[in-house]
Amino acid sequence: MTAQIIDGKSLAQKICSDLKQKISALNGNIPCLAVILVGDDEASRIYVRNKQKKAAEVGIDCHIIELSDSIGENALLETIDELNNNPEVNGIIVQLPLPQHLDTQKIIARISPDKDVDGFTPYNSGLLSSNNPDAFVSATPKGVLAMLQSINVNLCGKHAVVIGRSQIVGRPMGKLLLNHDCTVTITHSHTVDLPSITKTADIIVSACGQPQMIKSSWIKDGAIIIDVGINRTDGKLCGDIDFDDVKNKASYITPVPGGVGPMTIAMLLANTFEAFSRQKSHPQHHCCHGHDCHCSK
Ligand code: NDP
Repeated sequence: MTAQIIDGKSLAQKICSDLKQKISALNGNIPCLAVILVGDDEASRIYVRNKQKKAAEVGIDCHIIELSDSIGENALLETIDELNNNPEVNGIIVQLPLPQHLDTQKIIARISPDKDVDGFTPYNSGLLSSNNPDAFVSATPKGVLAMLQSINVNLCGKHAVVIGRSQIVGRPMGKLLLNHDCTVTITHSHTVDLPSITKTADIIVSACGQPQMIKSSWIKDGAIIIDVGINRTDGKLCGDIDFDDVKNKASYITPVPGGVGPMTIAMLLANTFEAFSRQKSHPQHHCCHGHDCHCSK
């Protein structure tokens, strides 16, 4: 068997061109995404520039707020409050990782849930946990789900093994697949005998950042393999899956690059458009205290 490739790049292009059409129909009333970038981490700068470029292509106004890596926690929280309270801003993301002296959980939790287009706040994470359709779902897991839906796989009852349990990929991925009736196993660096678990998987979503760790001997015939990992070895990008080895045993596989990566940006833009649409149809005040707050701000 040679696996069919799930082409994330062209799927993302289609999602972006649909978005572009919807946004151009707004006659100049365009969504706005604010990206907070703290410090001068080179990789973060590249990611943020990519997001801004893609946002411009679909017609989303993307503002980058660049802050010094010596910024104090209170000053950063105030910046988020200002964006929360600015009715011109529809979505807010904080580019991670943050410098060590900043409490990432506290900073993220300050984003107003209705502008939390990364879906990282405890509020949206809780909505996802309770299978509430109002949740903003983190872009990478949402992109993976769209890739699975693009091949028309019936997720109901499938055994999905997620490798990795981070807040931004593994955990929300597990919840999302559970919400779609998969039987989910979430694994991590302390999992004992991982290959014996992956061998029973109908679907593997790997997000562990271990270059080419997953071999064909780890999977069963016909498994669907989604590779979230982005690793750099000898200057070249590769995923967590040993693509050349696994492709002869899997039924579907995603490439790196050109797989989940482009889908992540497309889904961030889709979430921004969704936030914009919700805010236009249900205007409410935006304060720093969250969705149901009735303070006078
Ligand atoms: P983290 O480092 O936050 O999490 C990695 C997870 O993998 C942890 O839960 C860790 O376990 C687990 N893990 C590490 N080694 C192993 C192992 N040998 N066996 C099983 N589990 C293991 O990374 P992220 O979740 O942020 O990202 C994961 C990968 O996905 C990275 O390569 C990243 O670059 C990529 N990525 C790609 C995106 C895209 O758009 N394609 C978006 C975001 C990330 P433990 O919790 O025990 O430490």
